[in-house]
Amino acid sequence: MTFPTYTPIEMIDRLVSFDTTSRNSNLELINFISEYLLAHGIESQRVYDTGNKKANLFATVGPNTKGGIVLSAHTDVVPVDGQEWHSNPFSMTLKNEKLYGRGTSDMKSFPAIFLSMLPQFMAADLHTPIHLALSYDEEVGCLGAPQLVSLMKDLRISPRIVIIGEPTEMKVVNRHKGVFRYRTTANGLEAHSAYPDNGVSAIFHTANAIHFLDNLANDLRNRADGLGNFDPPYHTLHIGTLNGGTASNIVPRQCTFDWEARLIPGSDVNALVLNPFEHYLDMNVRPKMQNISKQTGISTETVVQVPGLSPGESRDSEALGRALSGHNGPAGAISFGTEAGLFQRAGFATLVCGPGSILQAHKPNEYIELDQVEACERFMRRLISQLSRT
Ligand SMILES: [Zn+2]
Repeated sequence: MTFPTYTPIEMIDRLVSFDTTSRNSNLELINFISEYLLAHGIESQRVYDTGNKKANLFATVGPNTKGGIVLSAHTDVVPVDGQEWHSNPFSMTLKNEKLYGRGTSDMKSFPAIFLSMLPQFMAADLHTPIHLALSYDEEVGCLGAPQLVSLMKDLRISPRIVIIGEPTEMKVVNRHKGVFRYRTTANGLEAHSAYPDNGVSAIFHTANAIHFLDNLANDLRNRADGLGNFDPPYHTLHIGTLNGGTASNIVPRQCTFDWEARLIPGSDVNALVLNPFEHYLDMNVRPKMQNISKQTGISTETVVQVPGLSPGESRDSEALGRALSGHNGPAGAISFGTEAGLFQRAGFATLVCGPGSILQAHKPNEYIELDQVEACERFMRRLISQLSRT
């Protein structure tokens, strides 16, 4: 029987060729991977989203025993809309020692390199398992990973370590900030602009709310604990979009803004941000609105909550991460969010370490350098020798 085989570069090309932009289904890619695994005798499990258009995939290589290592990646990529690409983003191009294509750095190369080396993992006499955990919808707020984590809990997976292969240039990272996204909507009362006191301006009251957040952002900057090695080394607030009003001569009925807090791990978003914000609205915004009309108000809904990653207790997992990556310096911090905090919150020792650079991610002409691919191959070879009997 012949097994399908791919070089690491061929497999990166194969995975890049599936347009798994988050708005699309990822099932063609999941089907390809599960068929490839099955051809090597490995069954995989899926957890679908509510519309059955996307799926997480979980598979185990080696003995089905306790311990082992989880290698995790998200399958979706960010859109290429409006970006100026010099080559087809969904067909890998090799040029000047770089592989170009959407997802080459963020983050199809990590699972591709593992999959291409599957025959070597199969040939080794592994004494503990390697689990592959692939998620959907990471780029739109880590929507798939919670079900993947639940599946792992149901299967009683108890790995020594979960490694999230987000691009860190193969350096070991043990902390990142948490990301919390919100949408705040003010509902006012329309009136002719000649009689503003007859209406409730959703925009004026939103401006008041935003002014509070601006002051709170300054306050958080001044209260930075300085422990985290983050850049910047403090909690941040940011307003991303603002929409309101219908015409210049109408007191605006509605105004909405999208905003986020990025907090140093271990911080409580309620205590630091949401409770003070609600208190301010209760004291300074809502009474003024409702004085004119009881139908008015301002409210906030949670859009995304991605917990931060804190340095774990386990020295064993960090030493293992260092041994695998060949990176000897202290574990680092990154400023972007990943699924790592979700795995850690479920009780798994978790690190981030993967090939490529976040500086290439989300941009036109995203690429990964060939030496990063080779560094990741070395990582996989060390993993084989760590986990095999021979
Ligand atoms: Zn990513």
